[in-house]
Amino acid sequence: MNSRRDFLQKLTIASMGLPFVRLQDAAGMSDFCSPPYEGPVLRVAIMGLGSYGTRVAEAMLTCTKAKLAGVISGTPSKIKDWQTRFNIPENNSYNYENFDRIKDNPAIDAVYVITPNALHHDQVIRVAKAGKHVICEKPMAINAKEGQEMIDACKKANVKLLVGYRMHFEPKTLEIIRMRKAGEFGKIMFFQGLTGFKIGDPKQWRLNKQLAGGGAMMDIGIYAINGSRYMVGEEPVWVTAQETKTNHEKFKEGVDETIQFQLGFPGGAVASCLSTYSMNFLDRFLLTGESGFGELQPATGYGPIKGRTNKGELDQPHMTHQTVQMDEMAGIILEGKQPVVPVDGDEGLRDVKIIDAIFLAVKTGKKVELK
Ligand code: NAD
Repeated sequence: MNSRRDFLQKLTIASMGLPFVRLQDAAGMSDFCSPPYEGPVLRVAIMGLGSYGTRVAEAMLTCTKAKLAGVISGTPSKIKDWQTRFNIPENNSYNYENFDRIKDNPAIDAVYVITPNALHHDQVIRVAKAGKHVICEKPMAINAKEGQEMIDACKKANVKLLVGYRMHFEPKTLEIIRMRKAGEFGKIMFFQGLTGFKIGDPKQWRLNKQLAGGGAMMDIGIYAINGSRYMVGEEPVWVTAQETKTNHEKFKEGVDETIQFQLGFPGGAVASCLSTYSMNFLDRFLLTGESGFGELQPATGYGPIKGRTNKGELDQPHMTHQTVQMDEMAGIILEGKQPVVPVDGDEGLRDVKIIDAIFLAVKTGKKVELK
């Protein structure tokens, strides 16, 4: 057992330099132990060919159940580049004006929306109306009203709506969740979520309220909100929050730079979190119970995630998050698979409702009850 573990750990390190090689493939586990996959494949079109869209496309090259089949972009040169790079036919290539025509394309099953936050609402609704399943990046929407409208539109069109929560499939994260569910930490008392980075270019869409819907909270603070919920295993019932702004030029009205927030859970646990665009090296989750703890640092980066508990280091192998996510999401959409932590529209909406409440708590200085 130990030699297998050592072997996997060595492979993890080796595969870090080989982004297109999945660990289980490198280990030969899937090749030698199981027959080639012959089940259904989710054919996905990516909307928004920016930095994260590119990361997802590259990760999908080693998916088993999901395949990049189409593109939607406003930039013709990017479409050409992706057609060549990812072998995408002209018939599966769209722009923002004509993508409703995807309705008539039987070669696409789902669209993955990876555009600036404020565009998600209209784009997801258009995809739903075109009868395709939708995967939408976080935050699913810039407020709860828009999130609910997206859920309603997908329900009405009878298509599935998933949110790109890649950490819900990350092995060390899932191990801490398993241990907490098994009672190994005892009664859960406290969660700490620190999430942030120092943002650069002041002209980018992430610092434009119209496109981002806010600042650090929408972009990175959402990981602490979402993480507090899956680590504690309950839905918070109240929130308090305080904002600090050191640069009013860069972080204009409605664009939060740093927010500290606290969440209260029905079982008595509290969460203390930080969301910021002004500090690097902030990516840490700590879950504390009466008889143990689980810690992840880094907790939400692209990995490898590192973690330990009161019982020792976590040694689950690193796998490219987006490869695992897309294979798992294909299973959810095509086979009705149930993930350990949900990734549906309702899950996305819960986080957006908490963001709304955090902004209200900052504005009023009062504790906000969550319904
Ligand atoms: P990006 O700026 O690199 O890419 C955005 C893309 O959207 C670009 O290709 C751009 O051309 C396109 N776009 C379409 N309409 C636009 C408009 N009106 N204004 C500006 N750009 C427009 O951003 P990104 O980092 O790829 O982020 C995109 C989404 O993905 C965001 O919602 C973000 O929160 C999410 N994201 C998620 C993760 C994750 O780990 N899950 C990581 C990064 C980003």
